[in-house]
Amino acid sequence: MSDCLFCKIVADEVPAEVVHVTERTVAFRDINPQAPTHVLVVPKAHFANAGELAVGDPVAMAELIDAGHAVATAEGHEDGYRLVFNTGEKAGQTVFHTHLHVLAGRDLTWPPG
Ligand code: IMP
Repeated sequence: MSDCLFCKIVADEVPAEVVHVTERTVAFRDINPQAPTHVLVVPKAHFANAGELAVGDPVAMAELIDAGHAVATAEGHEDGYRLVFNTGEKAGQTVFHTHLHVLAGRDLTWPPG
């Protein structure tokens, strides 16, 4: 999608600190980190949210979650990390290209706000 920020990051048209790339995914650091490790994993193809990706490309969805685990492990957080999809405006989604938040490096409280 031509006006999608994360499509532009995938296409290398907007700069980002990329930390992990697979056949179907790209992972880059969040511009406004909420934890010492805060990485976003996105599919290279455009899907608006996690539900659309799960239905439209379940292989990419599995690869996305695997990439989230790989990022957390590579950054030394195999002992504890959080994977989050905000899905829909009511849940706090602000960028409508599926992205998995990988959060780690501090105590993560529950329930989230
Ligand atoms: P959401 O609220 O779940 O949709 O998450 C969107 C995330 O994208 C937020 O955590 C933002 O800080 C992050 N974000 C927005 N613009 C950029 C950017 O240009 N680079 C990296 N992260 C971004």
